[in-house]
Amino acid sequence: MSKSVPEKNARSSGSAGSRRPPQKKEVLFHGIPVSPGIAMGPARRFGQSEIHAIKPSELKRIPDSQVEQEVELFYSAISKTEKELASLTDKMNKGGVDENTTDILEAHLLIVQDKVLHNDVIGRIRKNHISAEQALNLTIRHYLDVFSSMKDPYLKERADDVKDVANRILNNMTGMSRSTLESLTDPVVLVAKDLTPSDTALLDRKKVLGFSIENGSRTCHSAILARSMKIPAVVGMQRLYDKVQDGDSIIIDGYLGMVILHPEEETRDFYREKMAREKELYFDLLKESRLAAETLDGYRLKIAANVDGLQDAGELFSLGAEGIGLYRTEYLYMNSAMMPSEEVQFGVYRKLAESMKGEDVVIRTQDIGGDKNALFTSYHEANPFLGMRAVRLYGEYPNIFKTQIRAALRAAAFGCIRVMFPMVTCMSELNHLLELVETCKNELRKEKIPFDEHLKLGVMIEIPSAALIADEMAKKVDFFSIGTNDLIQYTLAVDRTNERISSLYDPAHRAVLRLIAMTVEAAHENGIPVAVCGEMAAAPEFVPFLIGLGVDELSMSPVSIAAIRKVIRRIRRSDAEAIARKALKEGQTADAMREARKLLERAVPDLVNVISHKIEQ
Ligand code: PEP
Ligand code: MG
Repeated sequence: MSKSVPEKNARSSGSAGSRRPPQKKEVLFHGIPVSPGIAMGPARRFGQSEIHAIKPSELKRIPDSQVEQEVELFYSAISKTEKELASLTDKMNKGGVDENTTDILEAHLLIVQDKVLHNDVIGRIRKNHISAEQALNLTIRHYLDVFSSMKDPYLKERADDVKDVANRILNNMTGMSRSTLESLTDPVVLVAKDLTPSDTALLDRKKVLGFSIENGSRTCHSAILARSMKIPAVVGMQRLYDKVQDGDSIIIDGYLGMVILHPEEETRDFYREKMAREKELYFDLLKESRLAAETLDGYRLKIAANVDGLQDAGELFSLGAEGIGLYRTEYLYMNSAMMPSEEVQFGVYRKLAESMKGEDVVIRTQDIGGDKNALFTSYHEANPFLGMRAVRLYGEYPNIFKTQIRAALRAAAFGCIRVMFPMVTCMSELNHLLELVETCKNELRKEKIPFDEHLKLGVMIEIPSAALIADEMAKKVDFFSIGTNDLIQYTLAVDRTNERISSLYDPAHRAVLRLIAMTVEAAHENGIPVAVCGEMAAAPEFVPFLIGLGVDELSMSPVSIAAIRKVIRRIRRSDAEAIARKALKEGQTADAMREARKLLERAVPDLVNVISHKIEQ
């Protein structure tokens, strides 16, 4: 696929013929491609607002006739926010979450109902003739200044609560609350400043043709979800949001990481044709989906799917998945005010296991934290990826682990379930988790509830410390799964969600490759298999590296399976090993990368420019 047609048009004046109304000039934007596909349609902006400082020069005087409308707007936002918080508190109470969380929500409700706040905002609207939005901003900034000058640390912390509440009111005022995402009526291309993973999980595939956001990277969870939901997406798309208006015509090219605003007819034709070719190529790929993922010289790999909820097993099989290598269970928690009960989880796991008809289903215990927040975790952390995440939550919420393990143990009696633990850093953590599994088994035995006594347990190797003691961990578990998304971030100290430093996010860094090599060696010496379930497994250019390093299984978004299977079937393990050996040698990694790309160009020329989208940005 060539980039030339849209670029050529983007530089053109965009002048329309004399009889047509003047057309807005076509503009091309470049970002990071994270989810393949093309989306064409009307734009819809989605931007959550935040309380911010306003300079006097930015204050806009509104006409007299608008003053009372702004007061009304403020009251209606207050009432929406009240309802939102009351319903959240109610759900939390029913869900049995800890008292601290509901206390916080109740305190937030009191702030929303505070008459001093109401009078201050309304006073500013009426006296200064400014909009409700500006009046709220000014009032809250004033409160925050007062809080920050206080000595008492407790009162200082209350500033965060006031800000949280004010942001809620602001978003209800500007119509940009999350309910906007849930209530889209017609298909749109979403252009947002940011979409959190829980926002993304709310998207309706039929209504959101594609999306573009300002921040993010290929391994942020919104991007991973977009691939799983088959929504074409481009992230790291700076400058676009402010240039777009609702209803503008827009195209998202999720292969090349481009967005074309106000596309001309010629560009639209080009993309219509590209979509048709994409379909053909996909159809072609699927012809091989039932054939073994085996290299030309007989090295057989297993290809599995990464999923984030109940998935249509028939579709997974037809795409070529030989099982589920990673089920990200945290999505069960994320948009729900209640923790999913053991029964709910048991039902989901059992259904998934049964639908996979004897193929493995690897359930990863929840990995809440980092960029994935649940409603019941309301931490404000300076470094969330280094903070309360995954197994680290168990100190505060001891029941989450046991509920999940009991559900998995029970569901395993109905299919091939395995369980793995994310974010494990040391042996004492792993030993503690293994002991808790034993406790759950004892409980179920006593309660005479059937479960799988031999449930296979694995650990994710996604923190350098775990890779460095992989030899010790391998003696305790039945399998490893390397989470390269985090392994790269933690090895290179590059936040996986930060587009500003995404060029430093290098999967082919020798430090990363060495850690993978160590992990594979430790696993094989102890007779256990090792999978890769991070995005590296879905990037064709890294498949030779992973095969060369001796990985046994690759697990990825379903949308990538057919292409990766084809790559495996067209290359030799011996070539891959030579590339991996070279990549591990000082000064030769870049050469190895070039060789891997050449190998792909020879082996799968049709794929190289279409399905392939680079993991490094
Ligand atoms: C990983 O870190 O590579 C992984 C698969 O887990 P997640 O992307 O959910 O952190
Ligand atoms: Mg991870």
